[in-house]
Formats: sequence, C-alpha cells, structure tokens
Amino acid sequence: MGHNNKTLSFSESVNFMVDRALSVLDIDQGIAAAIKTCNSTIKVSFPVEINGKIEVFTGWRSVHSDHRLPSKGGIRFASIVDEDEVEALASLMTYKCAIVDVPFGGSKGGLLIEPSKYTRDDMQRITRRFARELIRKGFLSPATNVPAPDMGTGEREMAWITDTYRHLHPEDINYLGCVTGKPVAHGGIRGRTEATGRGVVYAIREFFRHADDVEAAGLKPGLGGKRIVVQGLGNVGYYAAALLDEEDDCKVIAIIERDGVLINDDGICVEDVRQHINEHGTIKGFPDAKFSEDGASGLEIECDILIPAAMEAQITKKNAENIKAKVIFEAANGPVTFEADDILRHRGVTIIPDAYVNAGGVTVSYFEWVRNLAHIRFGRMERRHDEMRGAKMVQALESLTGKQSEEWMQKELIYGADELDLVRSGLDDTMRNSYQQLKEAYHSSDKITDFRTASYVVAIKKIVRSYIDIGVY
Ligand code: NAD
Repeated sequence: MGHNNKTLSFSESVNFMVDRALSVLDIDQGIAAAIKTCNSTIKVSFPVEINGKIEVFTGWRSVHSDHRLPSKGGIRFASIVDEDEVEALASLMTYKCAIVDVPFGGSKGGLLIEPSKYTRDDMQRITRRFARELIRKGFLSPATNVPAPDMGTGEREMAWITDTYRHLHPEDINYLGCVTGKPVAHGGIRGRTEATGRGVVYAIREFFRHADDVEAAGLKPGLGGKRIVVQGLGNVGYYAAALLDEEDDCKVIAIIERDGVLINDDGICVEDVRQHINEHGTIKGFPDAKFSEDGASGLEIECDILIPAAMEAQITKKNAENIKAKVIFEAANGPVTFEADDILRHRGVTIIPDAYVNAGGVTVSYFEWVRNLAHIRFGRMERRHDEMRGAKMVQALESLTGKQSEEWMQKELIYGADELDLVRSGLDDTMRNSYQQLKEAYHSSDKITDFRTASYVVAIKKIVRSYIDIGVY
C-alpha cells in the first residue's frame, strides 16, 4: 500500500482499518463510500472576553452519520484538536454505536483550548458560548445531536451546556436530553461517570470467560493475578484500573501519566495514586513505586494486559515492535495506529479494539437519554414492588421447608434493584453480548484474522442493514 512512507492522519488510520473489514464483505462500492464519508462538519470561531481582552476560540462538531438519530459523541477540550481528529472520532462513534446496539448516529466535537489556563468563570463563559454556536447552527439538540463528556470535559461542562440549551429553547420539554454525562442532580444518571472505565473491565472479564481466546493470546486462564499496565489515570483509566485492582485481584504494575511512569512489580494501589495526583497534581513523588520521566517507555514493560486510556496514536510504527503485552484493551480512542496495528497483528499480539472496549460510555449515555425522555428514574416504579415480592418468596420458602432462611438469603431475595444496579446490569449485558457478536464474526470467515476487523464487520453489516431498511438506496 502507498501509505507506508508517511504518517497517516487519524481519520486515514481509521479508514484503512474500515477498508480491511470492507474487503472481506461483499458490499457495493457506493454504499461503502457512503458509510465511510463524514456527512457534515462545522467549524465555529467566536470571541470571549477574558481579563478585559478579547480572545478568539475555535471549535468543531462533526456528524459522521445520521442513519439513526440523534447523532451522538463527546466534546473534547484540548490544546491539540483539529478537523481531522474530530472527523475520525465521529466515524468511530458510528461504528461504536452499531457494535453495542445503541440506536444513534456518530458525531464528535472539539474545542481548541488548554482548560488549565482559565478560571472556572472563564470556562463557563467559553463553554456556554461554544454551546450557543452549536445549538443555533443545528448541531446540538435532544432530537438530532447529543454531546457527552470526553477529554477535558465532564459533568460541569455538560450542566452548563444543558442550561444554555434550556434558555434558548424554553418550550422543549425534553431539554435535559440535549446532552448526556450531566450531574445526577441535573438529569444525569447514576453510574455514567464510571461507565467507560467499568465497561472496559466488563469487556476484560468477558474476554477471560472465553478460554480459547485467552489461550490464543498466550495467557493462562483467569483474570486474578494478571499484570496490568495502564496509560492515563483520567476518567476512563482510573475507574478501569481501580476496579481491576480492587475487585479482580489484578496487579497494576505500572501507571503512565503525562509526566512519567510509576513502576512497582508487586503492584500499585490505584486509589493511592489517584489521591496523590489530587493532592500534588502529578504522579511524581508517589512513595510506593519507582518513578521515571520517560512515560512512553512504560508502554514497553512486559505485562499481560496493556490498557492505553489516555489519547490517540500512542502505539505507532516507532514503538510497536517493542510492545511486550499479550493483549491490548484499547480504552482510549485510536491509541494504536493502523501501521502499529499491522505490526502487532503479525507479532501475534491480541488487540481488543476501541470501538468495542470503550463503548460503555455511550451505552450508559443512551440510558441517560432514555431516562431524560421518559422523565423518570429507572427503578422508581418497580423497586418496592420487587422488594415486596421478594419478601413473599422468602415467606413461601420458609413455610414450605419449615426452616428459617439465612440472613444473606433474605437480603438477596428481598433486595429491589435501584438505578445504579440497573445501569450496571444493562452495561454488563451490553459488553458481554457485543463481545460474543465480535467473536462470532471473527470465526465466521478465514479472511478475518483479528478482533478489530471483526468489530468493523459487525458494525458495517448493521449499518448497511439500517440503510436497506429505511430505503436509502
Ligand atoms: P481524561 O482527560 O479524563 O483523562 C486522560 C488522562 O490521560 C489524564 O489523566 C491525562 O493526564 C493523561 N494523559 C494525557 N496525555 C498523556 C500521555 N501522553 N501519556 C500518559 N498520560 C496522558 O480523559 P478520558 O475521558 O479519560 O478519555 C481518555 C480516552 O478515552 C480518550 O481517548 C477518550 O476519547 C476516550 N474515551 C472517553 C470516554 C469517556 O466517557 N470519558 C468514552 C469513550 C472514550
């Protein structure tokens, strides 16, 4: 292929991966082109007064597909972001939603800004202004285009965006559905903040339920005791690593952050590192691990599972030969470039792709949007009813057996699920089902030799199906 001598852009990298999947499918060239093409991208520049001076900010919102509405995808605030990146991320959203059966199109947004340079008040004015531009130009509404948090944005920004929309559209009864990832007190859903990281863990647990896949990756059975390296201890990386550390008995042997890497072969307490970052703003000085400023070298540490959870293009043709992990779970979007993917595949490293692994965020965003349109918290109607039925089951069991049930049985049987339980259950179910679909596709053809191609095959088939159903061609 002619792309060998230059570095591919993010969207070229994604499109080459999609092409690999298209080459094993018998799909009309025109339809293939329609699926790959980004529908529309808007660029906005707007002035905001900061400390008495006018500054001009630039942002983008891209809609890759609208075969399902609304189109969905995060907004990132970062000092490096451009049209190509936003379009690549929007296309990933299309495939991601299809893989996990979330009935949305794909979108993404970005604002060129270094958030740490601005006060909270500045950020509020900038975010509200950006939101206003997107709303007025038809790129943000509960029916057509629904953002969510991404790098550099969180609940706070989502609350400001919702409020801006509400002021511009006071008649829209569904205004809360204009954005997801909101604070729970402002229409958010319990479990959204942790959803992407938790989804990564559900994906890893499902992988370990498939003995043949675990063996093919060169790993011994069982997740307990596995040696983990994680890059990026932000929203996604923190929840994923903390859960693996605390609930799955894994050993997190290295944590890579912006300013370097912490290494301890006996395992690092993720929660302690997070506390240290909160207090000192850096991983430097953390007492229970060795520190090195060469963060990127951490990716090359020998381990069972590598979780890149920081940003795109971290594993490239420059370091792919040196990666010693047995399996990579792509928690970030696009952390492995197309060229690196090629190298790793030939070296037999298993990669479980981003479009599946980090889909927990959009899955729970979907639950949040449904909750907003329903105007009621999940579990509110049935929880007490379920508890009463559970209590009656306990009574029936006791009268049939003539024995008193044990306390733990009573607790389990009587318990009625609350919103968080239901969200986690829906997320777990989604991650398990989707993995099984990927695996089925993987084994459906000799031409498919990796999970990434399998994931795009699954996604493309569903998107083509929806085009056929609505009669677009
Ligand atoms: P975040 O800003 O909360 O965290 C990113 C972390 O990575 C930060 O701690 C940052 O210091 C660190 N980091 C940045 N550059 C680094 C580098 N070169 N080396 C090591 N660490 C570095 O962002 P996030 O929301 O956790 O997103 C991380 C990735 O996951 C992105 O690719 C994002 O697109 C993807 N993602 C996020 C969500 C979500 O719900 N937040 C959903 C799907 C995908």
